[in-house]
Amino acid sequence: MKSCLTLILFLLAASTATGEAGQSQPEVLVLTTGGTIASRTDAPLIPGPALVQAVPELLDHASIQVEEFSKIGSSKMTPGHWLALSKRINERFAADSELAGIVITHGTDTLEETAYFLNLTVAWDRPVVMVGSMRSSNEVSPDGPANLINAVRVAVSAEAVGQGVLVVLNEDISAARDVWKTDNRRVHTFESLDGGPVGVVDPDGVRFYRRSLQPHTTASEFDVAGIDELPEVLILTDFTGIDRELVARFASQSMDGLVVRTFAGGRMSAGMSAGLREIADQGVPIVVTSRIPKGRIVSAPDYEFPAVVSSGQHDNKARILLMLALTGTSELSEIQRVFDTY
Ligand code: ASP
Repeated sequence: MKSCLTLILFLLAASTATGEAGQSQPEVLVLTTGGTIASRTDAPLIPGPALVQAVPELLDHASIQVEEFSKIGSSKMTPGHWLALSKRINERFAADSELAGIVITHGTDTLEETAYFLNLTVAWDRPVVMVGSMRSSNEVSPDGPANLINAVRVAVSAEAVGQGVLVVLNEDISAARDVWKTDNRRVHTFESLDGGPVGVVDPDGVRFYRRSLQPHTTASEFDVAGIDELPEVLILTDFTGIDRELVARFASQSMDGLVVRTFAGGRMSAGMSAGLREIADQGVPIVVTSRIPKGRIVSAPDYEFPAVVSSGQHDNKARILLMLALTGTSELSEIQRVFDTY
């Protein structure tokens, strides 16, 4: 991870550092991580600088620095990558007060998770914009270049300051907390189910219509500067007729916390409930989430064991929130406060 960092200051715009009317172009750092946006069918992933150089229109909006953070499909992302990426973003903002914003190119498969982690751990209100694509760069009408240009346009927009980490694909601007990948193929795959995108990127400008109200970035209580490894949190999915034995066997796993994906309203099978009681008896904090895309779990059933109920966060984001909560506490009441807050 750290070793593949190649910093190539690409003052690509040196010659064009001045925009229209001669005023200097805002500075944007593009941190590249891999994913379809950097892929070509039947060829290795495109290196970071080449990915940016392939879209000269970026220079109409900003002067660009490029840093290659990793070159992987996002299914290979790990909590270790999240931590290092968050620290790198905080370092770059601290080192360069002129930096208007940071754009992160990333695979779409786990983009929503990296976005949510950064939303809770980046300690600056300058724009951090995540972008990807659904078509490879050498497919017919690739969506990558337009998405990247739009991401840079959002990163230099004054309205994006203080909005938390944003995700830009297919001309939609989505908040990291709400967005998720909903389609295996279509370019409009990212949706925010409870409330829709926070804005759009149109040819004539960037427009925001709303903002995420839950705390993020500078208002978040989570500081990862001193953390080298995140707590181990696992996810267990309930299914009809699951055997208590299977769940109880999970108790032998070393884990700092467990997220359970249950049926609607937090209701779970008898086997899951009985098995979780054994895991809870070992003092492992358990967070209950629903497999239903929309709406919160309201008045969850009485469980036979102490548990935290996730307020609308689905399993993969609840895992991130529990990881961060466990960096500060293992008190269930405190963890519930975190889930009711973020
Ligand atoms: N496999 C890709 C990834 O890295 C999918 C994508 O980027 O769309 O996530």
